[in-house]
Amino acid sequence: MCNTNDETLEHFLLECTILESIRSNVLCDIDDTLFRACGKQISDFEQPAKIQILLDSTFLHELVTEVDEELLPELEHHTRRLCYILHGERQKYLLKTECRRRKGGSTQL
Ligand SMILES: [Zn+2]
Repeated sequence: MCNTNDETLEHFLLECTILESIRSNVLCDIDDTLFRACGKQISDFEQPAKIQILLDSTFLHELVTEVDEELLPELEHHTRRLCYILHGERQKYLLKTECRRRKGGSTQL
């Protein structure tokens, strides 16, 4: 979408600038819950671990010794929200781009 990199899972979930504003809102919620659950934020982890946490919050056990179990469902809720919202936004973006292309207009945004 941003044409600056390959659309890998990492790029889509964490880096694509087109999705940044939407991503940062949900990441605030994830950071808040993560901090209460284990005293860390998503930026404290390496890239592969970030992806693992976002796709399966139970992976947190592999990374941190003390995790507040009661907060894992809340964390799961926010990580699921992130994937859902990013996916929806990507679909919207691609549809918009496709419509413009069909109309013969510019694909520049
Ligand atoms: Zn991108």
